[in-house]
Amino acid sequence: MERVLLVRMGEIFLKGDNRPQFINALARRVRYAIWPLHGRLELAQGRMYVKGVQDMDLCVDKVTKVFGVHSVSPALEVEKDLAAIERAAIEMTKDLSGSFKVSARRADKRFPMDSMQINAHLGGVVLDNNPNLHVDVHKPDHVLSVEIRELAYLHVTKIAAVGGMPVGTSGKALLLLSGGIDSPVAGFMLAKRGVELSAIHYHSFPFTSEQAKRKVVELAHILSQYTGPIHLYVVPFTKIQQELYDKCPDNQLTILMRRFMMRIANRVALEKGCGALITGESLGQVASQTMEGLQCSSDVCTLPVFRPLIGFDKTEIMDRAQQIGTYDTSILPYEDCCTIFTPKHPTTKPKVERLRESEALLDVEGLTEEAVQGIEEILVRYGDAVENSVC
Ligand code: ATP
Ligand code: MG
Repeated sequence: MERVLLVRMGEIFLKGDNRPQFINALARRVRYAIWPLHGRLELAQGRMYVKGVQDMDLCVDKVTKVFGVHSVSPALEVEKDLAAIERAAIEMTKDLSGSFKVSARRADKRFPMDSMQINAHLGGVVLDNNPNLHVDVHKPDHVLSVEIRELAYLHVTKIAAVGGMPVGTSGKALLLLSGGIDSPVAGFMLAKRGVELSAIHYHSFPFTSEQAKRKVVELAHILSQYTGPIHLYVVPFTKIQQELYDKCPDNQLTILMRRFMMRIANRVALEKGCGALITGESLGQVASQTMEGLQCSSDVCTLPVFRPLIGFDKTEIMDRAQQIGTYDTSILPYEDCCTIFTPKHPTTKPKVERLRESEALLDVEGLTEEAVQGIEEILVRYGDAVENSVC
């Protein structure tokens, strides 16, 4: 009798010619997640099983965060032998109370009892061994599932996982990661659709502190639980902000700054093989996120800009941040480069031509080049030894 974790994959993307590619990508991600637990992964007939882990709760926690996993069940694996299955059924249900039913599925039709016979027989065995249980086939508190496959698997809980698609199956994109609430959620949402993430952060030392940078690294670290390792590019942004402040109209400062961010991100993304940019912008949230503002910031990009939060209210984004675990870090009170040099009356209807006129007062290419040359690259990964060994 072995304790295993039964891993169910999302169904939709498992159809068609891409199926082996998706399964391999998912297996790689699950292996990465369980590596610190010294578990091993086995694949059989559209299922995955994690075996050999001591701490099953931790294993559940890690595997349910892997995109592409639909649900998991801690299970007992036994030979397809009735006495062994009976022992496992007793073991699985010994701490339960209330009502239950047995639900058997016989994938291996050579097994001598059919599903109904297994249900009736094991129901009797469980009742004989646990006086705290009674049968209710309509609305049971617990369902003992018995699957007769290559071996027999018994489980009583089904835990929902994050779903989505395995990271890496939808290409790679560069997330503009601030220290705020929104951008980590935006990154999570695209990673859930199978996008591998790199991240870029603009840092205006000494106006923004080392702690502010560490907070961003921590946010990337939390995200990397779901996404795997993230290359974080930290861009020195002080000189650009000072030049803008000295030479450009006050009401355009924010949108001009955002254009520099997008320009640099677009360039880094192309260099690093990313196919898109991701931001945490949401329509109307602040002055630079009006329709005109978004148009002006996209204007400097050749790559598509994904804004998954565009239609979300702040409260909805905050709820998501809580769910994925970034909220508490995001609300730590360190300054962001957006909050320094903030104009009193930012324009909400910027015009690309006016912005280009202002940019003509600057050496845009030189400033961009200098910022890119000064990039500090940090590899953020959840559990250090893991990455080298698995990915
Ligand atoms: P907040 O929760 O404070 O709104 P935010 O991350 O959404 O946080 P915004 O000022 O709304 O901050 O910025 C809009 C988007 O621009 C962010 O979601 C992020 O993608 C990008 N951005 C802002 N500041 C930075 C920064 N310092 N480095 C990288 N990207 C940034
Ligand atoms: Mg925001």
